[in-house]
Amino acid sequence: MAELSTATPIEYLKGVGPQKADVLKKELQVFTIGDLLQVFPFRYIDRTKFHKIRELHPDMIGAQVLGRLMSLKEVGEKRGKRLIAAFKDDTGIMELVWFQSLSFIKKSLTVGSAYIIYGKPSEFNGMLSITHPEMERYQQQEKRIGNMTMQPVYSSTEKLKKFNLDSKGIQKLQQVALETVWRGMQETLPPHLLERQKLMGYQQAMLNIHFPQNEQLMHAAIRRLKFEELFFIQLRLLRNKQLNTQKYKGHRFTEVGEKFNAFFTERLPFPLTNAQKRVIKEIRTDCNTGAQMNRLVQGDVGSGKTVVALMSMLLAIDNGFQACMMAPTEILATQHYLGLKELLGEDICTIKLLTGSTPAKARRIIHQELEEGTLDILIGTHALIEDKVKFKNIGFVVIDEQHRFGVEQRAKLWRKNVIPPHMLVMTATPIPRTLAMTMYGDLDISVIDELPAGRKPIKTVHFFENQRLRVFGFMREEIAKGRQVYIVYPLIKESEKMDLLFLEAGLESLMREFPLPNYKISIVHGKMPVKDKDFEMQRFVKGETQIMVATTVIEVGVNVPNASVMVIENSERFGLSQLHQLRGRVGRGAEQSFCVLMSSNKLSKEGRTRLETMVRTNDGFEIAEVDLQLRGPGDLSGTQQSGVLEMKIADLAKDQAILAEARNLVIQIFQEDPNLLQEQHQRLAHYLNRSSPAISWDKIS
Ligand code: ADP
Ligand code: MG
Repeated sequence: MAELSTATPIEYLKGVGPQKADVLKKELQVFTIGDLLQVFPFRYIDRTKFHKIRELHPDMIGAQVLGRLMSLKEVGEKRGKRLIAAFKDDTGIMELVWFQSLSFIKKSLTVGSAYIIYGKPSEFNGMLSITHPEMERYQQQEKRIGNMTMQPVYSSTEKLKKFNLDSKGIQKLQQVALETVWRGMQETLPPHLLERQKLMGYQQAMLNIHFPQNEQLMHAAIRRLKFEELFFIQLRLLRNKQLNTQKYKGHRFTEVGEKFNAFFTERLPFPLTNAQKRVIKEIRTDCNTGAQMNRLVQGDVGSGKTVVALMSMLLAIDNGFQACMMAPTEILATQHYLGLKELLGEDICTIKLLTGSTPAKARRIIHQELEEGTLDILIGTHALIEDKVKFKNIGFVVIDEQHRFGVEQRAKLWRKNVIPPHMLVMTATPIPRTLAMTMYGDLDISVIDELPAGRKPIKTVHFFENQRLRVFGFMREEIAKGRQVYIVYPLIKESEKMDLLFLEAGLESLMREFPLPNYKISIVHGKMPVKDKDFEMQRFVKGETQIMVATTVIEVGVNVPNASVMVIENSERFGLSQLHQLRGRVGRGAEQSFCVLMSSNKLSKEGRTRLETMVRTNDGFEIAEVDLQLRGPGDLSGTQQSGVLEMKIADLAKDQAILAEARNLVIQIFQEDPNLLQEQHQRLAHYLNRSSPAISWDKIS
C-alpha cells in the first residue's frame, strides 16, 4: 500500500477501521488522517496538580482528585433515576453522580479501583459531589503516553464513547496518526515568518498540541496553531480583495459637480460632523480609483449615515450615473424617501420610491424613467432587485441595515450594470474590530464614530418589576409634556403564543393606568398582517397615538423624533446588541430621552452584566465588544451566515492580538510581493491555489 499521508482516508489509520471511521465522520467531521490531527484538545489537565477531597469547595470551577471508587448504586425511579458512587481519598469522602447513560457508565467503572477524576464540585445537603465527572483509571505514570504533565482533553460524545473514543481513546488515535504521518509532515508557514514572529515549527506544534512535553511548549504550540489559522484566513480574504480590485473595473467618478455642491451649499441644514466628512472623502477617493468600491460603513444609530449615503449618490449623479438605495422594510424605505426628498428640495435631482405596494401604473412609469435615465435616485425595498427593474446606467448602490439582506440579494444588485456599481453597505450594528476584520476582511470599512453635536445622550436606567408604578408615573409625566413612549416586549422564539401572552398581560395593566380617551395606544406584533402593522405604526409616527406597544418588530429604522422614552420589558431576555438597537429608537429629537430597562429580580450573572453595560455606556462599539466576550463570535447578530467564523483553535473573542499580528503580516506580504512570486512565499501561493480556485463575488459585499 502507498505511504499514508494526511490526505489518506481515516479508515486506513491503524486501529480505526470502517465502523470507527463512520462514527468519526459523523460525530467529528473527520474524513482523513489530517482532519483527525486538526481535532485539538479543548482543555488540558495539569497532572501535577491534585486536590484533596477536604480542599474541595463549591466555588471551584474544576478540580482533579485522585481517589478510590468505593461503591456504585442506582437510585430513584424512572426519570429521577441516577447513579451514585462513593469516592474516597485519605482526607474524606464525596459523591459522584450520573443522570445519563447509566448502564454504560456502570459497565465501564470498577468498584475498588483507583481513579483520577475531574469536574466541578458542588454541595448538596452538606455533601460534596461532582456530577458527570471525567473519569480515568489511575495507572502508574510510565503506562501513560509519554511523560506528560499536561494531559489533553478532547471533547467526545456518547456515540464516540461506545467505540472507545473517549478523550483517552481519541488521544491514542492521535498518537498513531502522528507517528504515521510524522516523517512526511511539512511546514506550512514561510521560514522567515516563523523566525520573525518567534513561532514554533509545524511538526513541533502538532506534537505539543496533542502531547505537550511541558507547559511552556504547550503554550507555544497553541500560539503557533492559532496564528496559523488566523493567518490563512486573512491571506484568503485579502487575496480575494486584491483579485476583486484587479478583476472588477469600477466606474470612475472624477468630478465633484454641480448637484453635490448645490446640495452642500444650499440645502444641507447642518454642518457635517468630522466623521461624516471623513467617510464621504473615503468614498470619493474609492470611487475614482478605477476599481469597484465595496465599502461597509459602520455607525451607531443616529450617527447620520443617511446624509453620507445621499451625498455619495449625488456624486454618482454628477458623473452621469443613477443611484439607488435599498432598505429592509417598507416603512424604512418610505421614511428614507420622504426624508431625502425633503432634504433635496425640488431642483437638485429626481427621486422616487418603489416598494411592494407601489401601484402597477406608478411602477410602470418608474420602470420607464429608469430605463430612459430621467430618474436619478430610486429608493426602495426588495422590489428594487427584481429583474424587471432595469437602469440606464446605475453607478452607485446603497444598502441600509445590511444584515437583513441575504448574500444572494446583494449579488443581484451587482448585475444591474455591465460594470458593477459601487456598493455602500451601511450598518448600525457595530461589530468589534476582530470580527469585522474576519467577516468583512475583504471589504473596506469606514466608521462614523461621532454623533452630531448637541445631541443629548440617552439616559438609561434599570428598574425591577416591583418598581413599575414609578415607571408608569414617569411615562405619564413625559406624555403630559407631549412626548411619545415605546414599550417593547421580548420575542420568545420558541413560542409565539408566549409572546402574545407577555404583550397581552402588559397591555391589560397598561390600559388600566392609561385609560382612553386621554391616552391612545398603538399595538404592533409579529402575528399581525403587514397592512395592520403599517397602519398602527403610521398612527404612532403621525403622533395620533402616544404609546406604542410592540414586540421587537420596531427594531430596525423607525424614526419618530418625538418619542423620548423606550421602556423595555423583561429586558434580561434581550441580547446586548438588540437592547442597543432598541434604545436607538429614542434620542432622535432635541429633547432628553430615556431608556428604561425593566427586569425581574432574579438575574443571571450574564443578564446582570448586560443590563449594567447598557446603563454604563451608549457606545455601540463598546457594547459590541462586551457582547463578543459574553457570547462568543458565533452568536453575535449579523454573523450567523458567516462560515469564516468557524474556527478550530483560534477564538475571536480572545485572540485579538494574534489576529491583528497575522493580518498586518499578510498586508505587509501583499505589499512587498502582490502576486506571491518570491521564493519565500511559494508555500503561500501554493496554499491559495489549492484553497480558493475562483473567487465568488456573490459572497463578497
Ligand atoms: P443613522 O445613522 O441612524 O441612519 P440618520 O442618518 O437617520 O442616522 O440621522 C439621524 C438624524 O440626525 C437625522 O434626523 C439627520 O437629519 C440628523 N443628522 C445627520 N447628520 C447630522 C449633523 N451633522 N448634524 C446634525 N444633525 C444631523
Ligand atoms: Mg439609518
